[in-house]
Amino acid sequence: MRTMSEKTFTYMGHTFSQSSWHVFAGLNAVDNPTNVEKVFAKLKDLKLTCTRMGAYKPRTRPNTFQGHGDACLPYVFALAAEYGIKIIAMEITHERQLEEIEKHRPSSVGVMLQIGTRNAQNFELLKEVGAQQKHPVLFKRGYGITLEESLSACEYINSHGNSKVIFCLRGMKSLFATPHRNFVDFAHVPVIHRLTNMPVCIDPSHAVGASIEDIFHVTAQGSIAGANMLLVDIHPQPATALVDAAQALSLDLLEKYLYDAEIARNAYIKRSQLFNVKVPSTSIP
Ligand code: PEP
Ligand code: MN
Repeated sequence: MRTMSEKTFTYMGHTFSQSSWHVFAGLNAVDNPTNVEKVFAKLKDLKLTCTRMGAYKPRTRPNTFQGHGDACLPYVFALAAEYGIKIIAMEITHERQLEEIEKHRPSSVGVMLQIGTRNAQNFELLKEVGAQQKHPVLFKRGYGITLEESLSACEYINSHGNSKVIFCLRGMKSLFATPHRNFVDFAHVPVIHRLTNMPVCIDPSHAVGASIEDIFHVTAQGSIAGANMLLVDIHPQPATALVDAAQALSLDLLEKYLYDAEIARNAYIKRSQLFNVKVPSTSIP
């Protein structure tokens, strides 16, 4: 078995392993303080303390919104602290952004450094997030490379000193995926569990794209297969989101979404007893 991660690690009070279960719902791209606050208020309401917030956005086209970058960090972190958020999954596309984050981050709020699918083989960036051992890394599988190549890329993070890595499935680029944005690859959840020690995250929003109904269904598929983490786009007014508007769940839908995901998670727990595979200890923390 390839190791590539500590079997269990704890960060900001949350424990991650191949048996854990966490939901990171939040903004694909931070747009303004009002929407960040609305999202955090909803999460607090639902007792969720993890989220996603995109500040640095890798976009296909240079004339589209690139994210507010470090300009939004002061209010994102201040509001996170105010609403009791403990971990923010945040993509970085360059090592300098790590310093920008550290400049604004209060000690009560952690970040999970997201390596986007486009940077899955950006080896210099992987070495940088590997060389720092403060924050865990959420590695998004490369969408156009083999699973083996993505796993090898993760080894750059480990070999530079960081073994707190979560592997995220987010769908593969393929014309056969149509009408979905990417070909959903959540059947690989148990494969990653077998091949490595890494907890596995699924990102149904990027996998499916524009069908909210299908986002519900593939979330269930990944959860019943044993996913350990759910990364999902939400927005107070999805139609106005500056990035990937069609794939964001409204805040009103979030509670139903969590309930549905938990049905599948509980079914996984029952199934895992049947097959005597990894038996999870907890429900949504
Ligand atoms: C994201 O999660 O915001 C993102 C850009 O994802 P991916 O790298 O999987 O496309
Ligand atoms: Mn900047």
